[in-house]
Amino acid sequence: MISSPQEREDLAEIRRAVRSLCEEYPGEYWREKDRERAYPGEFVDALTKAGFLAALIPEEFGGSGLKLDAAAVIMEEIQAAGCNGAAAHAQMYVMNTLLRYGSEEQKLAYLPGIAAGELRLQAFGVSEPTSGTDTLSLKTRAVRDGDDYVINGQKIWTSRAEHSDLMALLARTTPRDQVEKKTEGLSLFLVDMREVVGNGMTIKPIRTMMNHSTTEVFFDDMRIPATSLIGEEGKGFRYILSGMNAERILIAAECIGDAKWFIEKASNYAKERTVFGAPIGKNQGIQFPIARCYAQMRAAELMVHHAAKVYDQGGNTGAEANMAKMLASEASWAAADMCVQTHGGFGFAEEYDVERKFREARLYTVAPISTNLILSYLSEHVLGLPRSY
Ligand SMILES: Cc1cc2nc3c(=O)[nH]c(=O)nc-3n(C[C@H](O)[C@H](O)[C@H](O)COP(=O)(O)OP(=O)(O)OC[C@H]3O[C@@H](n4cnc5c(N)ncnc54)[C@H](O)[C@@H]3O)c2cc1C
Repeated sequence: MISSPQEREDLAEIRRAVRSLCEEYPGEYWREKDRERAYPGEFVDALTKAGFLAALIPEEFGGSGLKLDAAAVIMEEIQAAGCNGAAAHAQMYVMNTLLRYGSEEQKLAYLPGIAAGELRLQAFGVSEPTSGTDTLSLKTRAVRDGDDYVINGQKIWTSRAEHSDLMALLARTTPRDQVEKKTEGLSLFLVDMREVVGNGMTIKPIRTMMNHSTTEVFFDDMRIPATSLIGEEGKGFRYILSGMNAERILIAAECIGDAKWFIEKASNYAKERTVFGAPIGKNQGIQFPIARCYAQMRAAELMVHHAAKVYDQGGNTGAEANMAKMLASEASWAAADMCVQTHGGFGFAEEYDVERKFREARLYTVAPISTNLILSYLSEHVLGLPRSY
């Protein structure tokens, strides 16, 4: 097992507890879910019951009140154990937006239920088919009508919507040509999906190259109470940006876990597989790519730890969260490719789990934000280069 250097004892303890839970969900479990494209509900329930998904919820609402560094350890360890945290990760960072910007009534209404595992907050509806990465161009409209908002439009890639009770939804409340600043006019809603599925909300699954439970969601005169609004009307974009930094850091931690899984898997195989009378790992042509991936992973890991620290200290983590996500997703993808190469033909066989993890790891240089958009952020906001769009 690839350890984490100089880890605090409380974090090491969390890591051991997550590892022990994950041992109950070996490769066969994930292979079957992958084959059936089925949601790993048992695994998500076990994580919830053990309190891991409520790590960031304050103790007063029934959670553990831990910081992002601990949440990052949880997500990393799930991946390093060969499991797939994508089934559950959104609960941590979507909840964070509710915690930061929700009213006392909203927090009391939902957070204890989420912490107790009675409610799932797994769906985050931002992406739309026509606007792509250009979130400020999204078209889903929410119009105030008495004590309600009426919502029309469509989201795409809303992952886990079929397995969630609540959805954080970003919609336009003021037309784009009527706002002073282009970042205004979008609002964030906490939608109780139990009230609206089949009653204004339609969910259609999208089959993807890996088991991700992602969907398209259609809103057709969907009525939700005005009390679903999080924070102030028109300020939703600002609220989700802060949540997105937490999301990027947690997903970066998952990528580090994936990279560790690939590196360990490749190292073990290289020691065991004998060809031409010697283990393939004796050849530097096999050793060096593994060692290079290890160094790349360790460097990215430092950035993930640094980003979590800045976040926990309350600083602006835009640059660090983006860099952590980019470097970690590149490290995990490099390790995935190396792992297939090290396994030769067996890298393609289902029973080795390498091809499944390879497909799963591919996502993270694209979502939740693609590498180009991170480079663009760094160019413009950190280096002061001219805007490209
Ligand atoms: C499996 C999966 C799960 C997802 N889950 C969710 C979810 O739960 N909720 C949610 O809201 N979204 C989700 N997403 C959406 C995800 O965040 C987007 O796919 C991602 O942000 C990229 O947006 P896009 O697909 O619209 O790509 P586009 O914006 O169409 O971009 C396509 C390509 O062009 C590049 N590009 C675009 N503009 C520029 C530019 N100006 N300069 C250089 N390059 C550019 C991009 O980097 C990208 O490589 C998910 C996506 C997938 C595939």
